[in-house]
Amino acid sequence: MNKIPSNIMALASSTSNKRETVCIFGTGDFGRALGHKLIQCGYPVVFGSRSTQTSNLIPKDAEVLSHAEAAQKAAIIIIAIQRQHYNFLAPLAENLHGKVLVDISNNLKINQYPESNAEYLAQMVPGAKIVKAFNTVSAWALQSGTLDASRQVFVCGNDMEAKQMVMDIVRALGLMPLDQGSLLAAQEIENYPLRLFPMWKFPILLSLGLTTFFFFYCLIRDVIYPYVYENKDFSFFIAISIPNRICPILALILLALVYLPGVLAAIIQLYRGTKYRRFPDWLDKWMLCRKQLGLVALAFASLHVVYTLVIPIRSFVRWRIISHTVSEALNNKTEPLDTTNAWLSDSYLALGILGFFLFVLLGITSLPSVSNNVNWREFRFVQSKLGYLTLVLCTAHTLVYGGKWFLSPSSYRWYLPNAYMLSLIIPCIVLVVKFVLIFPCLDKPLTQIRQGWERNPQYSE
Ligand code: NAP
Repeated sequence: MNKIPSNIMALASSTSNKRETVCIFGTGDFGRALGHKLIQCGYPVVFGSRSTQTSNLIPKDAEVLSHAEAAQKAAIIIIAIQRQHYNFLAPLAENLHGKVLVDISNNLKINQYPESNAEYLAQMVPGAKIVKAFNTVSAWALQSGTLDASRQVFVCGNDMEAKQMVMDIVRALGLMPLDQGSLLAAQEIENYPLRLFPMWKFPILLSLGLTTFFFFYCLIRDVIYPYVYENKDFSFFIAISIPNRICPILALILLALVYLPGVLAAIIQLYRGTKYRRFPDWLDKWMLCRKQLGLVALAFASLHVVYTLVIPIRSFVRWRIISHTVSEALNNKTEPLDTTNAWLSDSYLALGILGFFLFVLLGITSLPSVSNNVNWREFRFVQSKLGYLTLVLCTAHTLVYGGKWFLSPSSYRWYLPNAYMLSLIIPCIVLVVKFVLIFPCLDKPLTQIRQGWERNPQYSE
């Protein structure tokens, strides 16, 4: 009998309204969840299983057949089976010839095998068209209606038509296919779900290190020193005062570290006279995690705002105000208003409020939903110009905090300056170097270099 292969039938009728049957090999967690979702979306589903006995867990509208029988019924077969069991497919090579096989598998470790699971499947069934998809969607997300999980489905494969068929299914399930190209991309797609916040590692470790350093620094200056010299117990500072010192310090340092690599890159480009030589690896990695550094900085700045808001209700603060008022009443003497101090304190607060406002604006524009809606020039304006303005305001806020006592020798304890002074080092360096870089004698060659000009061209005509 002259049989027409079912995948060709599918290609021919892909525009019709009737959904094509989808075959799923494996009745495990993922196979069943995907089967349910496909049936909900109007696809007839047939399972290929080692056991043709159906169970309550299997969607009741689906058929359960042997692998060979199920393969005959559909053009697309989703392999919902772990890679280590793929060898059962070799004897089925004839049944699978010309079919679209969708590899959804993941591994336990990054680059666990020399080749991707999808490429391994292609070696196992050479006559089939292999497409990698669905591995970044979890069975749980499919069951819970994909409402509270990422909707992105990375798809790759060498056969364009096969890939298109799979992407149509992805779309029909309410998910978003992202074409990643040929099967060469499969290894990267398989590694993707195994990554644990890769860009967050450096910012988190750095902030943990800095937090620990500044905690002990403040502990020595603000708790141990008064205890040793004045026998005063300020250990309760650990709860609010010290965190409220650490948070703005960390926010300012991390914000400056967002802009420091850009400044270093500019110096390197000016020195080399070309943009066509790669930056050192550490600088590349640093530049890639600037958004995360900025968001961690914003988190510290927000905590600083919350800690500051509770200052008036602190028992220590209320005690100080009351005892000051009582001592003034007892001495029958009221201190006149110090307008310099009033100016300093109001300017300090105003700079902090404006700095925080711009900081929040920067954070909002870094969200993909917002950044996707602005063009490259607008994004650069917000992240660079407004970013530097935020850094200027926050640095000024910290400088004015020191007020009259800034750099005063009396503020040193055990030769240690106030912690906020340390936090000013990196921001001031960044701002000074940036200021120098905008001088025309440096800005002009830098702009030319960034447009492709080279001081000593490697390949001259
Ligand atoms: P599972 O619950 O362990 O199910 C795997 C299925 O494979 C079994 O139910 C069985 O189906 C079949 N199977 C087991 N041993 C076999 C063998 N020796 N020969 C042939 N078939 C065999 O696993 P799962 O969680 O559904 O995951 C399946 C695949 O999806 C894996 O590659 C996984 O990496 C991938 N994945 C899973 C998720 C998830 O959230 N679970 C997410 C993304 C990707 P039968 O008894 O019907 O033969």
